[in-house]
Amino acid sequence: MGDELIELAIERLREGFPNKSKSWIRRALVRFMRGTVREFNENTWVVRGLPELGDKYPTYVVRFKDGRYYCSCFESSWGLRRRSEVCTHIAAVILYRNYKRLDSDVYASVINIECTDYYLEIPSELRGKVKVVKSVRVIDATDKLNPRHRVTYVIYADEPVEVRARLACDGEVRELSLKLTRTRRYIVELLTHQPPQPSSAHFS
Ligand SMILES: [Zn+2]
Repeated sequence: MGDELIELAIERLREGFPNKSKSWIRRALVRFMRGTVREFNENTWVVRGLPELGDKYPTYVVRFKDGRYYCSCFESSWGLRRRSEVCTHIAAVILYRNYKRLDSDVYASVINIECTDYYLEIPSELRGKVKVVKSVRVIDATDKLNPRHRVTYVIYADEPVEVRARLACDGEVRELSLKLTRTRRYIVELLTHQPPQPSSAHFS
């Protein structure tokens, strides 16, 4: 297994459950790395029990229904207490799904430019089919009103389409013909992911 891929899958799990402990993550990881998760169908997984993690049953069934995960361990004697929690069987399934998704193929093209003003335009009929993600870093802020940026565009899709695009960089406009080539989704996420911003959510 690729280290970067598994790290990214764990990072996604952490982002989804920021209040969970290190030991919760570690237990999910042990379950996943030991290959205990099997997909039964689109919304059902079977997780082999690990006695060293306190499991009393040989298998657990995790289901995804109405936007929520349910585990058969909820029905055990600890069920009432555990129902409101996300057990590590579920966490292992989420990790498994994250991994599978990140390991899947996408078709992508990458553009790197350094400019003050820039934009990338793709034909409107491709919107929805082709995604564009941009990451921007200031490389020269001597002129505070017009800082210079290093911009990375990643253009990707589920299919190997060819994309005609217009790229503008400081007044120079170029017509591009981009052939999206096969890569894995985690490469695209490594190139484009910005760490989550500090939460500004309001709780009421
Ligand atoms: Zn469980």
